[in-house]
Amino acid sequence: MSKIKSSETVKVVVRCRPLNRKEAAGVTGTPGGRGGIVEMDVHRGQVVLQNPRALPGEPRKTFTFDSVYDASSRQRDLYDETVRPLIHSVLDGFNGTIFAYGQTGTGKTYTMQGAWLEPERRGVIPNAFEHVFTQISRSAADRQYLVRASYLEIYREEIRDLLDPNVHAPHVPNVHTQPPHTLELRESPESGVYVRDLTSCVCKSVKEIEELMNLGNQVRSVGATDMNEHSSRSHTLFLITVECSQTGPDGRQHIRVGRLNLVDLAGSERQAKTGVHGERLKEAAKINLSLSALGNVISALADGRSGHVPYRDSKLTRLLQDSLGGNAKTVMVATLGPAPQHYEETLTTLRYANRAKNIKNQPRVNEDPKDALLREFQKEIARLRAQLSHKEGRGKHRKEEGEEGWDGEGDEEGEEEVEKERKLQKERLEEENKAIREDGSLLAVEKQRLLGEKEIMMGDLRKERDTTEQLTAKYKAMESKLLVGGRNIMDHTSEQQKTLETRRQEIAEQSRREREILQQVMVQDEETLELRETFSSLQQEVEAKTKKLKKLYAKLQCVKAEIQDVNDEHVRSRQELEQTQNQLTRELKFKYLIIENFIPPEEKNKIMNRLTLDPEEDQWKLQLLTPSESQMKKRLASAVGYKRPISQYARVALAMGAHSRYRAENILFLELDMSPPTTVSLDHWPSEVRPNCSPSPTDNAPYRERATRVRKSRSWCQAPRAITSSSSSTVSLATHSTATPSTAQ
Ligand code: ADP
Ligand code: MG
Repeated sequence: MSKIKSSETVKVVVRCRPLNRKEAAGVTGTPGGRGGIVEMDVHRGQVVLQNPRALPGEPRKTFTFDSVYDASSRQRDLYDETVRPLIHSVLDGFNGTIFAYGQTGTGKTYTMQGAWLEPERRGVIPNAFEHVFTQISRSAADRQYLVRASYLEIYREEIRDLLDPNVHAPHVPNVHTQPPHTLELRESPESGVYVRDLTSCVCKSVKEIEELMNLGNQVRSVGATDMNEHSSRSHTLFLITVECSQTGPDGRQHIRVGRLNLVDLAGSERQAKTGVHGERLKEAAKINLSLSALGNVISALADGRSGHVPYRDSKLTRLLQDSLGGNAKTVMVATLGPAPQHYEETLTTLRYANRAKNIKNQPRVNEDPKDALLREFQKEIARLRAQLSHKEGRGKHRKEEGEEGWDGEGDEEGEEEVEKERKLQKERLEEENKAIREDGSLLAVEKQRLLGEKEIMMGDLRKERDTTEQLTAKYKAMESKLLVGGRNIMDHTSEQQKTLETRRQEIAEQSRREREILQQVMVQDEETLELRETFSSLQQEVEAKTKKLKKLYAKLQCVKAEIQDVNDEHVRSRQELEQTQNQLTRELKFKYLIIENFIPPEEKNKIMNRLTLDPEEDQWKLQLLTPSESQMKKRLASAVGYKRPISQYARVALAMGAHSRYRAENILFLELDMSPPTTVSLDHWPSEVRPNCSPSPTDNAPYRERATRVRKSRSWCQAPRAITSSSSSTVSLATHSTATPSTAQ
C-alpha cells in the first residue's frame, strides 16, 4: 500500500566555501568581490560566476537555485532550511537522499560531516542523527520506532561494507588488518535495489549511531595508503532506516518505513587535470565511472526526452535509482571553491547542478512493506511476553492481554508478584526441610527419602527461576531496541530548546518562501514588461524597444557563449574518452597477441566455452569444472544377486567350480604380458656347471616362491612345462629366475 504524492523536483542548493589562506594570498585583486570568482545572491538564490580570463564585455554567468549559501553561511543555516524538512519526511515514511557533489576540497565532507566536536560546525549527518532521535522522543506515545543504520563505500566500483562484523571482530581497537568484504547489488520488486548481506545495526540513541559512524570511518581510513587521496576517490553512503508503527483509524497497527541516504561523493574533478597518466589514468577512469554515469543519468532525466536512463552503468547510479527520478525526496548540495584557477571545474559543477534541478521524482510513503523488521520484532516480543506470562502463571487472561497491549508497568508488577511467590515457596520448602530433620519420630531412611524429594523440588524451583530470568532478559533486550514516542530519550530536550527549534524552522521556511516569490517575480517581470508598457510617443516606443532589443541581444550572446562552452566541454570530454579508449585498445591488442601466440586454440576454446556473462554483476564468470549430475558417469549396476559387476565368463566358471580364482567376485582377470624370453645366454653355459648352479633350498627360497607364483599365473594359458637342465633353446621364465642368482654367486 502506498500513497502517491504529486511529483516534485530534486532540490538543488549550492554552497561556496571561503578562500583558504593559500588561495587568498594568490588572488587578491581578482574580479569577483572578495578575491573569488563566485558571487552569491542569497536572497534571490543566484550564483554569478566571473571568468578570470574573460574578454572585455563578456557577460558573467548567472545560475538560479533553490537556495545558495555563501562563504559566511553556517552549518545550521543549511540544515534548517534545506535538510530539516527532508528528515521530517523520512520520519513520515518517505525515502530521502542528500548528496554532496563537487570538486575535491570544496567542502563536501565539511558539509556532510563537519567538525563533530564543535556544535557550530557539525554537518548534516550529526545534525540529522540528533534530529531523528529528538523527533522520535517528541512524537505521540502510541508510536513505536525501530532505527537501523548501515554504512558502505564504493571504491573502484566495489561496494564495501564498513560495518562488516568480521572486520570489527578483533577486540583490539583501531587495528583492522583485512579490508571489508565486497558486496553485490540485487534488485527485488519489493524493496527495489539493495545491497545483499549489508550489515544493518539497530540504534537506540544518538551515541550509538555516532559510534557506528566512527567504527566505519576507522575501516575506511586504514584501507588506503594515502588517506586523503582515498577519501576523495571513494563514495560513501550512510543509510538510516526508520520504521514507525502506529495504530491506524481501522484500529490495526500500520508500519511506515523511511530510508535516508546520506551520500558524500568522490571529487568530481576532471582526471586530466590531476595530471595522472598510464595505469593511474585507467584506474582513475574506473573510479570516475560512477560519477560520469551519474552525470549521464542526470542528463537523461533532465532531458526528459530520452526513454532510456542508464542507471545500470554503475553501482552508484543503481543505488541512487530511487533518489533520481524515483520515489524519494532528494536534495543535492553542490559545493564550489571561489579560486580563479578552478574556474572550469566550478562552471562544470554549476552546470551539473543546474541540470539536476529538472529531475522530477514521485515521492511516496512506504506503508506496510513486507520486509519491515519492526513487525518481526513486535511478533517476537509478543511471543516472549506470552511465554513469560504463561510461566508467571497469570493464566489465559493475562496472556491475551499481553498480546494486545504494551503495558510495561503491569508487567513489572507481575514480575514482583511472581518473585514474592517464588520466595514464599522457597521459604516453605526450607521450613519443611528443617521440620523433617528435626522430627525425631521419623526413621533415618524415611527422613533421607523425604529430604531427597524436597531437594528435587528445590532444584526444579531453581531451574524454573533460571529459565524465567533468561526469558525476561531476552524480552527486555528486544523491547529496549524499540523506541517509544513520548519517552524522553534525549536528556537535554527542554521545552525552551523545542521552542527555539520551532522558531528557527519557521524563519527558515519564511526565507525559503520569500526567495521563491522573488524568483517568480523576476520571471514574471520579464514576461509582463512589454504588456505593462504604454507609450506616449513613437520616439519613446522606439527607445523602449531598442532597450529591450539590446537586452535580448545580450541574452542571445549569453546563450551563444553557453552553447560554445558546452561544445568545448563536449570536445574535451570526447578527447579524454578517446584517449582512454586508445589505451584500452592497445592493451586489448597486447592481450590478443599473447592469447593467439601462446595459448593452444583448443585450450582457448575450452575456456571460452566455460565463460558466461553475469548480467547482474556485468562480469564474465568461469563455470565450475565439476560436471553436472546428468553428465556424471554412473557406476555400473551390479548383476542381480552379486555384490559387484561380474563377467559372464566368470559366472560360468564359478557355476562349474572350475577354478578357485572365480570364487571371489571382485578378482579381475589380467593377462600377463607374454614378451619373448631373453635368456638366450643360458644356453651358452657349460653343461657341467649347470647342476652346481642350483642354489641350496634355503638360499633361493624367495626366488623359488616367485617362480612358482609366476608359473601359476601362466597356468591358464599354456600347459606347464617341466624344468629340465637340458631344455633347449626356449627356457621358461621360472628357469631363468632360479638360474640368475647362481650366476651372481
Ligand atoms: P571535500 O570533501 O570536498 O574534498 P573538505 O570538506 O575536506 O572537501 O574541505 C576541504 C577544506 O575546506 C577543509 O579543511 C574544510 O574545513 C574547509 N572548508 C570547506 N567548506 C568550508 C566552509 N563552508 N567553511 C569553512 N571551511 C570550509
Ligand atoms: Mg571529502
